[in-house]
Amino acid sequence: MRNYGLIGNPLAHSLSPRLFGEYCQRQGITDARYALFPLEAEGVVREALHAWVADQHLLGFNVTIPYKQLIVHSLDYLSDEAAAIGAVNCVSVAYADGAVKLTGHNTDAAAFRQTLSPLLTPSHRSALVLGTGGAAQAVGYALQQMGIDCRFVSRNPSASFSPDQTISYMQAAEQMPCRTLVVNATPVGMTPHADATPWADSELFTPHHLVYDLIYNPQETRLMAEARRHGAATQNGLPMLQAQARQSYKIWGL
Ligand code: NAP
Repeated sequence: MRNYGLIGNPLAHSLSPRLFGEYCQRQGITDARYALFPLEAEGVVREALHAWVADQHLLGFNVTIPYKQLIVHSLDYLSDEAAAIGAVNCVSVAYADGAVKLTGHNTDAAAFRQTLSPLLTPSHRSALVLGTGGAAQAVGYALQQMGIDCRFVSRNPSASFSPDQTISYMQAAEQMPCRTLVVNATPVGMTPHADATPWADSELFTPHHLVYDLIYNPQETRLMAEARRHGAATQNGLPMLQAQARQSYKIWGL
Protein backbone atom coordinates (compact mmCIF):
# COMPACT_ATOMS: atom_id res chain seq x y z
CA MET A 1 0.00 0.00 0.00
CA ARG A 2 1.29 3.53 -0.85
CA ASN A 3 0.71 5.93 2.03
CA TYR A 4 -0.16 9.64 1.74
CA GLY A 5 -1.90 12.10 4.03
CA LEU A 6 -2.48 15.56 5.41
CA ILE A 7 -0.85 17.20 8.41
CA GLY A 8 -2.38 20.22 10.18
CA ASN A 9 -4.56 21.01 13.15
CA PRO A 10 -7.56 20.90 13.32
CA LEU A 11 -8.41 18.57 10.41
CA ALA A 12 -11.87 17.25 11.22
CA HIS A 13 -13.63 19.02 8.30
CA SER A 14 -10.97 18.37 5.65
CA LEU A 15 -12.20 17.48 2.16
CA SER A 16 -8.77 16.13 1.15
CA PRO A 17 -9.40 12.40 1.88
CA ARG A 18 -12.57 12.53 -0.25
CA LEU A 19 -10.76 14.27 -3.15
CA PHE A 20 -7.98 11.67 -2.95
CA GLY A 21 -10.47 8.77 -2.89
CA GLU A 22 -12.38 10.16 -5.89
CA TYR A 23 -9.13 10.66 -7.84
CA CYS A 24 -7.95 7.10 -7.14
CA GLN A 25 -11.32 5.73 -8.17
CA ARG A 26 -11.25 7.69 -11.46
CA GLN A 27 -7.65 6.55 -12.18
CA GLY A 28 -8.24 2.94 -11.14
CA ILE A 29 -5.63 3.21 -8.37
CA THR A 30 -6.27 0.58 -5.70
CA ASP A 31 -2.97 0.51 -3.77
CA ALA A 32 -2.91 4.02 -2.27
CA ARG A 33 -4.46 5.48 0.86
CA TYR A 34 -4.72 8.95 2.42
CA ALA A 35 -4.99 9.60 6.17
CA LEU A 36 -5.47 12.68 8.36
CA PHE A 37 -2.65 13.42 10.85
CA PRO A 38 -3.58 16.16 13.36
CA LEU A 39 0.03 16.76 14.52
CA GLU A 40 1.06 19.01 17.39
CA ALA A 41 3.69 21.69 16.57
CA GLU A 42 6.52 19.60 18.14
CA GLY A 43 5.86 16.98 15.45
CA VAL A 44 6.77 19.44 12.69
CA VAL A 45 10.28 20.11 14.03
CA ARG A 46 12.95 18.70 11.63
CA GLU A 47 14.13 15.53 13.46
CA ALA A 48 10.68 14.61 14.77
CA LEU A 49 9.14 15.12 11.34
CA HIS A 50 11.72 12.98 9.51
CA ALA A 51 11.40 10.16 12.07
CA TRP A 52 7.61 10.29 11.95
CA VAL A 53 7.49 10.24 8.11
CA ALA A 54 9.77 7.16 8.05
CA ASP A 55 7.67 5.48 10.74
CA GLN A 56 4.46 6.05 8.75
CA HIS A 57 6.15 4.94 5.46
CA LEU A 58 4.73 8.07 3.80
CA LEU A 59 5.50 8.79 0.13
CA GLY A 60 3.99 12.27 0.22
CA PHE A 61 1.76 14.50 2.29
CA ASN A 62 -0.11 17.78 2.18
CA VAL A 63 0.28 20.52 4.78
CA THR A 64 -2.44 22.87 6.00
CA ILE A 65 -3.15 25.42 8.76
CA PRO A 66 -1.18 26.20 10.90
CA TYR A 67 2.03 24.57 9.55
CA LYS A 68 2.48 25.82 5.95
CA GLN A 69 5.14 28.35 6.93
CA LEU A 70 6.59 26.58 9.98
CA ILE A 71 7.39 23.41 8.01
CA VAL A 72 9.64 25.27 5.52
CA HIS A 73 12.52 25.10 8.03
CA SER A 74 12.16 21.34 8.60
CA LEU A 75 12.60 20.23 4.97
CA ASP A 76 15.68 19.19 2.96
CA TYR A 77 14.80 20.89 -0.33
CA LEU A 78 12.30 23.48 -1.57
CA SER A 79 10.92 24.01 -5.07
CA ASP A 80 11.65 27.47 -6.50
CA GLU A 81 8.00 28.43 -6.03
CA ALA A 82 7.86 27.28 -2.39
CA ALA A 83 11.11 29.14 -1.64
CA ALA A 84 9.82 32.35 -3.25
CA ILE A 85 6.47 32.16 -1.42
CA GLY A 86 7.86 30.97 1.92
CA ALA A 87 5.07 28.43 2.41
CA VAL A 88 4.66 24.72 1.61
CA ASN A 89 1.42 22.81 1.16
CA CYS A 90 2.77 19.64 -0.47
CA VAL A 91 5.78 17.50 0.48
CA SER A 92 7.29 14.68 -1.57
CA VAL A 93 9.32 12.00 0.22
CA ALA A 94 12.39 10.15 -1.05
CA TYR A 95 14.09 7.25 0.77
CA ALA A 96 17.84 6.87 0.11
CA ASP A 97 20.19 4.57 2.08
CA GLY A 98 17.74 4.49 4.97
CA ALA A 99 17.54 8.30 5.14
CA VAL A 100 14.37 10.29 4.50
CA LYS A 101 14.64 13.36 2.24
CA LEU A 102 11.73 15.80 2.19
CA THR A 103 11.05 18.29 -0.62
CA GLY A 104 8.52 21.10 -0.14
CA HIS A 105 6.31 22.43 -2.92
CA ASN A 106 3.63 25.11 -3.11
CA THR A 107 0.70 24.04 -5.29
CA ASP A 108 -1.65 26.76 -3.93
CA ALA A 109 -0.13 29.47 -6.16
CA ALA A 110 -0.45 27.48 -9.39
CA ALA A 111 -3.94 26.29 -8.43
CA PHE A 112 -5.06 29.87 -7.77
CA ARG A 113 -3.56 31.04 -11.08
CA GLN A 114 -5.16 28.20 -13.02
CA THR A 115 -8.65 28.71 -11.56
CA LEU A 116 -8.59 32.53 -11.64
CA SER A 117 -7.48 32.86 -15.29
CA PRO A 118 -10.76 31.84 -16.97
CA LEU A 119 -12.71 34.33 -14.81
CA LEU A 120 -10.66 37.42 -15.66
CA THR A 121 -11.77 40.19 -18.01
CA PRO A 122 -9.49 42.98 -19.31
CA SER A 123 -10.77 45.26 -16.50
CA HIS A 124 -9.27 43.02 -13.76
CA ARG A 125 -5.76 44.50 -13.82
CA SER A 126 -5.48 45.44 -10.19
CA ALA A 127 -6.37 43.55 -6.99
CA LEU A 128 -6.94 43.72 -3.26
CA VAL A 129 -5.89 40.61 -1.32
CA LEU A 130 -7.48 40.48 2.13
CA GLY A 131 -5.12 38.93 4.71
CA THR A 132 -1.35 38.53 5.05
CA GLY A 133 -0.94 34.82 5.90
CA GLY A 134 0.46 31.94 3.83
CA ALA A 135 -2.53 31.87 1.48
CA ALA A 136 -2.20 35.60 0.79
CA GLN A 137 1.51 35.11 0.00
CA ALA A 138 0.71 32.35 -2.52
CA VAL A 139 -2.03 34.49 -4.10
CA GLY A 140 0.29 37.52 -4.25
CA TYR A 141 2.97 35.43 -5.97
CA ALA A 142 0.44 34.13 -8.52
CA LEU A 143 -0.92 37.64 -9.22
CA GLN A 144 2.59 38.98 -9.72
CA GLN A 145 3.26 36.23 -12.26
CA MET A 146 0.02 37.17 -14.05
CA GLY A 147 1.02 40.84 -14.19
CA ILE A 148 -1.83 41.93 -11.89
CA ASP A 149 -0.91 44.74 -9.53
CA CYS A 150 -1.92 43.91 -5.96
CA ARG A 151 -2.14 45.36 -2.48
CA PHE A 152 -2.50 43.20 0.61
CA VAL A 153 -5.09 44.41 3.13
CA SER A 154 -4.37 43.98 6.82
CA ARG A 155 -5.66 44.95 10.25
CA ASN A 156 -2.04 45.82 11.02
CA PRO A 157 -0.23 46.76 7.75
CA SER A 158 3.13 47.61 9.35
CA ALA A 159 3.43 44.03 10.69
CA SER A 160 2.89 42.49 7.24
CA PHE A 161 5.50 40.35 5.45
CA SER A 162 5.48 43.13 2.83
CA PRO A 163 4.64 46.48 4.53
CA ASP A 164 5.27 48.49 1.31
CA GLN A 165 2.53 46.58 -0.47
CA THR A 166 0.09 46.41 2.44
CA ILE A 167 -2.70 48.87 3.25
CA SER A 168 -5.41 49.20 5.88
CA TYR A 169 -9.07 48.28 5.33
CA MET A 170 -9.89 52.03 5.27
CA GLN A 171 -7.33 52.65 2.49
CA ALA A 172 -8.61 49.59 0.64
CA ALA A 173 -12.16 51.00 0.65
CA GLU A 174 -10.83 54.16 -1.07
CA GLN A 175 -9.04 52.05 -3.73
CA MET A 176 -11.99 49.73 -4.33
CA PRO A 177 -13.31 51.57 -7.45
CA CYS A 178 -10.06 50.89 -9.39
CA ARG A 179 -9.10 47.53 -7.81
CA THR A 180 -11.81 45.35 -9.30
CA LEU A 181 -10.41 41.97 -8.26
CA VAL A 182 -10.91 41.21 -4.54
CA VAL A 183 -9.47 37.99 -3.06
CA ASN A 184 -10.40 36.86 0.43
CA ALA A 185 -7.32 35.11 1.85
CA THR A 186 -8.49 35.37 5.48
CA PRO A 187 -10.39 32.60 7.28
CA VAL A 188 -13.19 35.07 8.10
CA GLY A 189 -16.60 33.74 7.04
CA MET A 190 -15.66 30.07 7.24
CA THR A 191 -18.05 27.55 8.85
CA PRO A 192 -18.97 27.62 11.79
CA HIS A 193 -18.66 31.45 11.65
CA ALA A 194 -20.42 31.82 8.31
CA ASP A 195 -22.20 35.00 9.44
CA ALA A 196 -18.86 36.87 9.56
CA THR A 197 -17.29 38.86 6.71
CA PRO A 198 -13.83 40.43 6.38
CA TRP A 199 -15.28 43.32 4.29
CA ALA A 200 -17.73 45.74 5.94
CA ASP A 201 -18.53 48.06 2.97
CA SER A 202 -20.53 45.76 0.68
CA GLU A 203 -22.07 48.76 -1.16
CA LEU A 204 -18.65 49.37 -2.77
CA PHE A 205 -19.00 46.23 -4.90
CA THR A 206 -20.13 46.84 -8.50
CA PRO A 207 -20.81 44.67 -11.57
CA HIS A 208 -17.16 45.34 -12.58
CA HIS A 209 -15.85 43.48 -9.52
CA LEU A 210 -14.79 39.85 -9.25
CA VAL A 211 -14.68 38.46 -5.70
CA TYR A 212 -12.63 35.27 -5.31
CA ASP A 213 -13.05 33.81 -1.80
CA LEU A 214 -10.50 31.09 -0.93
CA ILE A 215 -13.04 29.65 1.53
CA TYR A 216 -15.00 26.63 0.22
CA ASN A 217 -17.15 25.92 3.30
CA PRO A 218 -19.83 27.38 3.09
CA GLN A 219 -20.09 27.23 -0.70
CA GLU A 220 -21.23 30.86 -0.77
CA THR A 221 -19.72 33.02 1.99
CA ARG A 222 -21.41 36.15 3.31
CA LEU A 223 -18.76 38.18 1.42
CA MET A 224 -19.67 36.45 -1.85
CA ALA A 225 -23.44 36.82 -1.26
CA GLU A 226 -23.15 40.55 -0.55
CA ALA A 227 -20.88 41.10 -3.57
CA ARG A 228 -23.28 39.12 -5.78
CA ARG A 229 -26.22 41.25 -4.60
CA HIS A 230 -24.31 44.31 -5.87
CA GLY A 231 -23.78 42.68 -9.26
CA ALA A 232 -20.20 41.38 -8.78
CA ALA A 233 -19.03 38.02 -10.15
CA THR A 234 -17.99 35.56 -7.42
CA GLN A 235 -15.96 32.38 -7.02
CA ASN A 236 -15.42 30.18 -3.98
CA GLY A 237 -12.25 28.22 -3.12
CA LEU A 238 -13.42 24.73 -4.13
CA PRO A 239 -11.93 24.69 -7.67
CA MET A 240 -8.61 25.90 -6.20
CA LEU A 241 -8.70 23.17 -3.55
CA GLN A 242 -9.34 20.56 -6.26
CA ALA A 243 -6.59 21.99 -8.50
CA GLN A 244 -3.96 22.07 -5.74
CA ALA A 245 -4.84 18.48 -4.85
CA ARG A 246 -4.45 17.33 -8.48
CA GLN A 247 -1.05 19.03 -8.65
CA SER A 248 0.04 17.22 -5.48
CA TYR A 249 -0.92 13.85 -7.02
CA LYS A 250 1.14 14.76 -10.09
CA ILE A 251 4.17 15.64 -7.91
CA TRP A 252 3.81 12.29 -6.10
CA GLY A 253 3.65 10.44 -9.44
CA LEU A 254 0.17 9.04 -8.75
P1 NAP B 1 -4.22 32.39 8.36
O1 NAP B 1 -2.74 32.46 8.26
O2 NAP B 1 -4.85 31.80 9.56
O3 NAP B 1 -4.86 33.85 8.18
C1 NAP B 1 -4.61 34.68 7.07
C2 NAP B 1 -4.75 36.13 7.44
O4 NAP B 1 -6.11 36.45 7.69
C3 NAP B 1 -4.03 36.56 8.69
O5 NAP B 1 -2.68 36.75 8.40
C4 NAP B 1 -4.76 37.85 9.06
O6 NAP B 1 -4.17 38.97 8.37
C5 NAP B 1 -6.16 37.60 8.49
N1 NAP B 1 -7.11 37.34 9.57
C6 NAP B 1 -7.10 36.31 10.44
N2 NAP B 1 -8.13 36.42 11.31
C7 NAP B 1 -8.80 37.55 10.96
C8 NAP B 1 -9.94 38.22 11.48
N3 NAP B 1 -10.61 37.73 12.53
N4 NAP B 1 -10.35 39.35 10.86
C9 NAP B 1 -9.67 39.87 9.80
N5 NAP B 1 -8.57 39.26 9.27
C10 NAP B 1 -8.15 38.13 9.84
O7 NAP B 1 -4.80 31.57 7.11
P2 NAP B 1 -4.16 31.11 5.72
O8 NAP B 1 -3.46 29.83 5.88
O9 NAP B 1 -3.43 32.23 5.09
O10 NAP B 1 -5.52 30.78 4.91
C11 NAP B 1 -6.52 31.76 4.73
C12 NAP B 1 -7.80 31.13 4.21
O11 NAP B 1 -7.58 30.59 2.90
C13 NAP B 1 -8.33 29.98 5.07
O12 NAP B 1 -9.73 30.09 5.14
C14 NAP B 1 -7.94 28.75 4.27
O13 NAP B 1 -8.81 27.66 4.49
C15 NAP B 1 -8.09 29.27 2.85
N6 NAP B 1 -7.30 28.52 1.88
C16 NAP B 1 -7.94 27.90 0.86
C17 NAP B 1 -7.24 27.22 -0.10
C18 NAP B 1 -7.97 26.56 -1.24
O14 NAP B 1 -7.40 25.70 -1.90
N7 NAP B 1 -9.21 26.95 -1.49
C19 NAP B 1 -5.84 27.15 -0.04
C20 NAP B 1 -5.19 27.81 1.00
C21 NAP B 1 -5.93 28.48 1.96
P3 NAP B 1 -3.91 40.37 9.17
O15 NAP B 1 -3.50 39.99 10.56
O16 NAP B 1 -2.80 40.98 8.39
O17 NAP B 1 -5.18 41.14 9.13
